Amino acid sequence: MIDNYKHKGMRRRLVEEVKAKGITDAGVLDAIGKIPRHLFMDSSFENFAYQDVPFPIGSGQTISQPYTVGFQSQLLNIKKGDKVLEVGTGSGYQAIVLVEMGAKVFSIERQRKLYDRTRKLMHDMGYMAKLFYGDGYKGLPSYAPFDKIIVTAGAPEVPKQLLKQLKVGGLLVIPVGGDEGQVMYSISRISEMDFEQKTHGDFAFVPMLKNRARD
Ligand code: SAH
Repeated sequence: MIDNYKHKGMRRRLVEEVKAKGITDAGVLDAIGKIPRHLFMDSSFENFAYQDVPFPIGSGQTISQPYTVGFQSQLLNIKKGDKVLEVGTGSGYQAIVLVEMGAKVFSIERQRKLYDRTRKLMHDMGYMAKLFYGDGYKGLPSYAPFDKIIVTAGAPEVPKQLLKQLKVGGLLVIPVGGDEGQVMYSISRISEMDFEQKTHGDFAFVPMLKNRARD
């Protein structure tokens, strides 16, 4: 697992690029500057790792575009020690951006192959995120409540279970919509019963799928 001066140089340019596109949170920019994104992708594609584009990671899934990772991470307004649930582990890159920002990360993936591969990668790289194989629509009731929840797949609607697993004062960031694209929502839980939502523009994610076997 090599991370050399060439990768570091490309990473510095990527940080400048996402900054120019509007990512200002210093913690997010530091994390993008630090994490060897090329190691989360197949080694034959490493030249694409530091372009601001999404990329296929196998099993029909993608590693999100760095700008999108930055955008969602910034919306989450991470404080050190925040307990964060991610739905859609995929390559693990987004999870590790949150770990670098000081969050305690719990992440769920529904594709066994991706789950196995990312678990091994994180272990080999020494990163601390708790990974789970399962259905993100259900969240992780036994670890709830969470300070923040991030969904990294396009959700046809906001899963009720995720709202339930949010602390009062907590925040859910989720792209909502179908195959034609999604709108990014941030939903704050302001009391036991009340939620407040804001929208943040259009995005394109792979779909958040219901739990059917796909291995
Ligand atoms: N956060 C990822 C992005 C992965 S793409 C990264 O940084 O690479 C979205 C991921 O969500 C895919 O891996 C897909 O398999 C997963 N996914 C889709 N529906 C899901 C569900 N119901 N529960 C858990 N994961 C789901």
